[in-house]
Amino acid sequence: MEILLPVAAVVLIVVFVGYLRRSQPRVSCPKCQSQQVRQVEQVLEKIQQDSTMGYAMKLDVKLILKTTYRCQTCGHTWSITAPEK
Ligand SMILES: [Zn+2]
Repeated sequence: MEILLPVAAVVLIVVFVGYLRRSQPRVSCPKCQSQQVRQVEQVLEKIQQDSTMGYAMKLDVKLILKTTYRCQTCGHTWSITAPEK
């Protein structure tokens, strides 16, 4: 049972990332508008932020998805960050 839990977590992450990739719209290069764009890497960044709401202190953890693209036409590289919903 101790082995099953981390395996289940990894499977969940893989399924989740796969879902995100499918749901992504077609990306075009911001420099030359080419559609020959390759996804270089996709990272889930965990950002912790403190937010004070009234007199209650709340620690908020936000997941930020950072995707890096590279244009195969002009070689331009850029990344897009989108907060998880
Ligand atoms: Zn380009």
